[in-house]
Amino acid sequence: MSSRILAAVAWPYANGPRHIGHVSGFGVPSDVFSRYQRMAGNDVLMVSGTDEHGTAIQVQADKEGLTPQQTADKYHRIIAEDLQALGCSYDLYTRTTTLNHREVVQELFRTLHDNGYVVAEVQQGAISPSTGRTLPDRYIEGTCPHCGYDGARGDQCDNCGRQLDPIDLINPRSRINGEVPEFIETEHFFLDLPALAGALGEWLATRTDWRPNVMKFSLNLLKELRPRAITRDLDWGVPIPLEGWEDASMKRIYVWFDAVIGYLSAAVEWARRSGDPDAWKLWWQAEDARSYYFMGKDNITFHSVIWPAILLGANGQGDKGGHGSAYSPLNLPTEVVSSEYLTMSGSKLASSRGHVIYVRDFLAAFGPDPLRYFIAVAGPENQDTDFTWEEFVRRNNYELANEWGNLVNRSISMAHKNVGAIPAAGELTDADRELLDAARAAYAVVGDLWGRCKFKQATAEAMRVVGLANKYISDSEPWKLKDDPVRRDTVLHVALQVVQDCNTLLTPLLPHAAQKVFEALGGQGVWAAQPELRLVREGDGPEYPVLTGDYTAQLATWESRPIAVGTPLSKPSPLFAKLDDTLGETGPDWAPIA
Ligand SMILES: [Zn+2]
Repeated sequence: MSSRILAAVAWPYANGPRHIGHVSGFGVPSDVFSRYQRMAGNDVLMVSGTDEHGTAIQVQADKEGLTPQQTADKYHRIIAEDLQALGCSYDLYTRTTTLNHREVVQELFRTLHDNGYVVAEVQQGAISPSTGRTLPDRYIEGTCPHCGYDGARGDQCDNCGRQLDPIDLINPRSRINGEVPEFIETEHFFLDLPALAGALGEWLATRTDWRPNVMKFSLNLLKELRPRAITRDLDWGVPIPLEGWEDASMKRIYVWFDAVIGYLSAAVEWARRSGDPDAWKLWWQAEDARSYYFMGKDNITFHSVIWPAILLGANGQGDKGGHGSAYSPLNLPTEVVSSEYLTMSGSKLASSRGHVIYVRDFLAAFGPDPLRYFIAVAGPENQDTDFTWEEFVRRNNYELANEWGNLVNRSISMAHKNVGAIPAAGELTDADRELLDAARAAYAVVGDLWGRCKFKQATAEAMRVVGLANKYISDSEPWKLKDDPVRRDTVLHVALQVVQDCNTLLTPLLPHAAQKVFEALGGQGVWAAQPELRLVREGDGPEYPVLTGDYTAQLATWESRPIAVGTPLSKPSPLFAKLDDTLGETGPDWAPIA
């Protein structure tokens, strides 16, 4: 029976190009999962987009001499192109500066406010003593009270990642003219999380299949929930949809609040673009729909506690009750799938500190599937994991190229040379049957693992079958069977059948290679669909690129199908390039090992 599955993927931030640590956290895991679920016959809606509001966009814009919108335009395009090149099969990858997103955010804000879950509180806000004007958070700098970093900003410390208020900073100063800001009372809106804690706790108690560490972490947070600011002193973001506030030029909705709502707004935009404006409800309102959220571990709080709290409040389900929003009733997350960090020489990959390998450079040098394979098999699924070129080269050469690539190549080459087509099988031996059975049995095991986001185990299990097939060919020695063409053809037939099965098992992980193997076996059409970059607009607004695709038309399904005897075969070309071993010692010249 098919299920509806929402794959809600973390929103990359538009203040620069993304590095391989980012896509190991959300990009590859969510895509492998979604591709598997589609092959298994489920209705997947995979959505995300670029997170384009907030202080850091303005800081980057100042640095580059651009407006915030120009900065968002520039990096949205780069990030969307990178995700396309990586093969991430979004149904819609959009952005947060759309009118649609603004409408959805404002509707949820208004509902939470109506229901009493958004409360105004007076805070200390910074002004410039010389001009008397509000000083936006990004223009205040000082020492982080948590980690002692001297370049912390008024809303966040880039060193330890903590959220800050300007008044928390030690030795605050204006970045415009160095003067010490004055603090005056200013009003902001807070999400009343304590009023939602009861409903949150009840809901968390139903999440019995969550991983123990995520559950423990979430329950601990529940005990110390305090109201959390959802507006900010800045002029780049979604306006506050309340009378008297909408035109306040220096008050905007806080970027974190607007970004999490993107999961819903992107689904609404996708539905509108699909021609059925209500279609998003099948994933957001239907009781049997499931939702999986993909992110790095630094974002667990937002997805296991704060986003569910927003949804509960917008459904009118907290201590204060209330009415549902125009989008309610909204489903809460089924599963929160987080990754640990991909590190380099022990440090978190971070653009600011030079430990960085950009997705674009990596894909240009090695193509998408070697990176996808590395992330699945050696990435930070369960623990922080150090990226080394040595390990990348080893995985690429000895697993992808020598094991899988070589199995494909030698089976098809031999069949091409001896028969010119997929040969028929004669009588099967025990060894033939054993291998065919092992490949067929792997569908249940590998499928279950892909579906539960156990990427390392799923890859290992698929590669185990690849290993069995290589051993089978070595043991059967079809090249020595010139005088027994029936037996030779039987061995080649069995090998090609298992190549096809392994290709299906690996399709969610290696969709580009899978298309090539499909064609090398004589297949025609789209086996594994790829996302396309399309220019769209809202009304008369400017064009912007989104990622989308038609994945229902692809031929790949999660089942063993018999190869078609007699299909002509051509001489295959290598599936994966072997890399020079010295690359493992030095790194490529654009990212040498320091
Ligand atoms: Zn800090």
